[in-house]
Amino acid sequence: MGRVAATETNAILMTLAFDPTRLPLPNGHFIGGQYVERPPEMLVHAPSSGQPLAEIPCADSDLVDQAVDAAKVALKSSGWGDAAPRDRLRALHAWADLMEAEAATLARLEAVCSSRPVADVAAGDVGVTATQIRFFAEFADKECGDLVPTSKAQLGFIDHEPYGVIGAITPWNFPISMAGWKLGPALAAGNAVVLKPSEMTPYSTLYMAELAVRAGIPAGLINVVLGDGPRTGNAITGHPGISKVSFTGSTRAGSAIMENIARTGIKPMTLELGGKSPQLVFADADLDLAAECLAKGILPNAGQFCVAGSRMIVHHSIAEALAERLAQRFAQETPAATWDDPGGSSPIISEAQLQRIDGIVQAALGQGAELLCGGSRFDRPGSYYQPTLLAGVSAENPAVTEEIFGPVATFQTFDSEEEALRLASHPTYGLCAGIFSGDLTRAVRVSRALEAGTVWVNRYGRSQDHILPTGGWKASGLGKDLGREAFLANRRSKSVLIDL
Ligand code: NAD
Repeated sequence: MGRVAATETNAILMTLAFDPTRLPLPNGHFIGGQYVERPPEMLVHAPSSGQPLAEIPCADSDLVDQAVDAAKVALKSSGWGDAAPRDRLRALHAWADLMEAEAATLARLEAVCSSRPVADVAAGDVGVTATQIRFFAEFADKECGDLVPTSKAQLGFIDHEPYGVIGAITPWNFPISMAGWKLGPALAAGNAVVLKPSEMTPYSTLYMAELAVRAGIPAGLINVVLGDGPRTGNAITGHPGISKVSFTGSTRAGSAIMENIARTGIKPMTLELGGKSPQLVFADADLDLAAECLAKGILPNAGQFCVAGSRMIVHHSIAEALAERLAQRFAQETPAATWDDPGGSSPIISEAQLQRIDGIVQAALGQGAELLCGGSRFDRPGSYYQPTLLAGVSAENPAVTEEIFGPVATFQTFDSEEEALRLASHPTYGLCAGIFSGDLTRAVRVSRALEAGTVWVNRYGRSQDHILPTGGWKASGLGKDLGREAFLANRRSKSVLIDL
């Protein structure tokens, strides 16, 4: 989700800036095409100001039952999974179009409580998500089953069917995009969804669901239930009427979900989890490109993205020059409220998370790390942390081992390719990695040796064509989002054999 050009952003922002205390917010859960109000239980904050915004309800198992029932009724009455697939494609395209038309409202509802700058959401996240929904819609009437070789006396084929109701749970760091990753392929494949957004960022997801109904997607196919992990999340993942779980969030919550599913009844799951991704810069790299990508791999959204390239691993011959450039670049970041300055850096999602980031940075310094820049919060209201670069770190330093989920990167040096690979290997995570080198043979060799679900060479970040699946190795995940794999992951296959 790149930032938009400054001039373009400024023009957009003139019409997007808003007062967070006066923004009308959707109220309640969204079930069966309607808002369902319940007594408020949880506070939503604006991290840009640190102020409380509003309260939201927390769904218990009865309310999750209601949402699952609404999804089942909608599937049956609309024939969503049974009718001509082109009908699904048309409805999903209409939803994507309406999301783009409503980009300003979606962006404000996202920016008010999250770390996403309003102009970036309006000009970036909404359009990218709409394109993803169209991308998945195209699979609805093009992805086929298989006729398999058998004797002439038999007919064997592999059919694909939707699961029925899918339970989706999303994190706070890119609420619209993460909801799109789940809803696009699930609906295109013929399912209904019960989705729980993060309790910190519920509003844009609610509005996406409302827009879906306005665009002609049958009411009840997308149900949004608000709540926390232990109560609402557990009620979803353990629900017998939910046939598959699709989760994006921390490795800790992913483990808890696996446990709950093992306890309450086996069902398939897709888990997109945490990361601690390395960026390897070899001596023959284009230094301008590497410096730009290394910064881009940790500064946007204040480093609060799963694929953050938080471990910079650089050949010793270019290390000093690169570290100096990065420290200068980091120091240029200025904090700004998400509803305010288009060029500003994002707040940290909560004060608790900021304290956690600072705790790891101070522990890293206590264990011998050298501070190249940053190292403390910005002196202003709201939760903002200075982009921080730490050198001289051992492999055991907490800044190297922990997923910090903030604007903090470590800087390590190597002499040989072997040493670079040893430093790159993380004991827990394997989400993605970056390689910068002018030698394509080396890049391919190193990419094959890295333990990661995605490797980028001479770039850092996903492309916008959505065809490459994304997902982690090791404790970074199970299964894939995006690409054809995500569509297939929302259907189950049935092998049919007929004696003729
Ligand atoms: P989190 O795990 O705290 O919460 C994510 C979601 O899970 C929230 O909706 C939360 O309420 C819910 N949840 C928490 N505990 C649960 C439980 N026991 N059962 C069911 N649901 C539960 O994560 P977060 O702080 O919102 O997001 C940051 C994390 O997400 C980071 O670790 C980041 O790497 C990861 N992430 C991964 C990807 C990816 O594609 N791999 C993408 C974005 C974020």
